[in-house]
Amino acid sequence: MSLSRSVAEIVPTHIVTEGGGFKVRRPFRMGKVMSPFLLIDEMGPVNYGPGEAVGAPWHPHRGFETVTYLLDGRMRHEDSAGNHGELNPGDVQWMTAGRGIIHCEEPHEEILRDGGRTHGFQIWVNLPASHKMMRPRYQEVPSSESPTVEKNGVWARVIAGECMGEQSAIDTKIPITLIHIKMNSGSRLSQELESGLNGMIYVFGGEIELENEARVKKSPIAFGIRTKQQIKDGELGLLSEGDVISITSKSDSEFLILAGPELNEPISRYGPFVMNTREEIEQAFIDYRNGTFVG
Ligand code: MN
Repeated sequence: MSLSRSVAEIVPTHIVTEGGGFKVRRPFRMGKVMSPFLLIDEMGPVNYGPGEAVGAPWHPHRGFETVTYLLDGRMRHEDSAGNHGELNPGDVQWMTAGRGIIHCEEPHEEILRDGGRTHGFQIWVNLPASHKMMRPRYQEVPSSESPTVEKNGVWARVIAGECMGEQSAIDTKIPITLIHIKMNSGSRLSQELESGLNGMIYVFGGEIELENEARVKKSPIAFGIRTKQQIKDGELGLLSEGDVISITSKSDSEFLILAGPELNEPISRYGPFVMNTREEIEQAFIDYRNGTFVG
């Protein structure tokens, strides 16, 4: 019998200023509670006027992956390895910083000049100790190639993992699920999620309801108690164990489903470096100063 996941905790979000001064909506509690995700930043939505758009000028990363998913706007990126490209709505950039990358993430010159709406996500995914110093790599999935599916009032883009029979081609070192979902009011979704993985839902529009049946054993018969829990716009719901999520949309809603393993490794973190020990962080600074950070 399948066990539906319930909401174990609701983590509210707050507004934080990042990079060159852009605002993100970010859960109040991070790190271990949402392993293997280190950060879930919703960028905007913001309407920039001409000359107002800002990004993240040159900065390094080591020890994890950054996933950038753009919903609105246009961004460009460039890095120390000579890669450069742009992101348009629906595009995903899965960047594995591994042992080191130095890059800049900026609004496209068209947005800089004319202004415009910008909305998207940057999610930091931790790497296990065994892969923190792996060779950096990019996996770029343009909107036109990214798997999407629509059934019974539910639309999904499968960035990583599987949803409604669609599967992502993104390669990850640990099993990761990352799905963008839009649901019409009153529609339902039953999403399977391998038990044993940490599961969470970040809602950024409307409100959803999770239904689950808690098995209560009471002599002489066992019966189930049906519970309904809500997650609404601007809330990260951390889910209990189970192998399926039963969702009903209370309004038109939009959210991300995220899942991955508990890494159970120490996290030593300083700004854009996320390692296991303080010594490894110091080494990152030394390598950065010495110019031996990348390569
Ligand atoms: Mn970055």
